[in-house]
Amino acid sequence: MAKGKKKRRERERKEKVPKRKSAKWKVYDVSGEAVKRSLKSCPKCGDGVFLADHKTRMTCGKCGYTEFTRKGEEEEK
Ligand SMILES: [Zn+2]
Repeated sequence: MAKGKKKRRERERKEKVPKRKSAKWKVYDVSGEAVKRSLKSCPKCGDGVFLADHKTRMTCGKCGYTEFTRKGEEEEK
């Protein structure tokens, strides 16, 4: 069963190829041993569900909660 072995190898190699980091990791600021959250979490869904950062607002992809940020105030006029 040499064929099966080869297939397995290819798969292993694929996993080692550095992919783009999952977007999930953007929400964590890892400095040393401390892990801080750099984004707000959704007040409706609770911890673990982060708000997506947009120019003028932050939105929850799970429940649709939207929070407007001050960043956009100048642009909105
Ligand atoms: Zn939510």
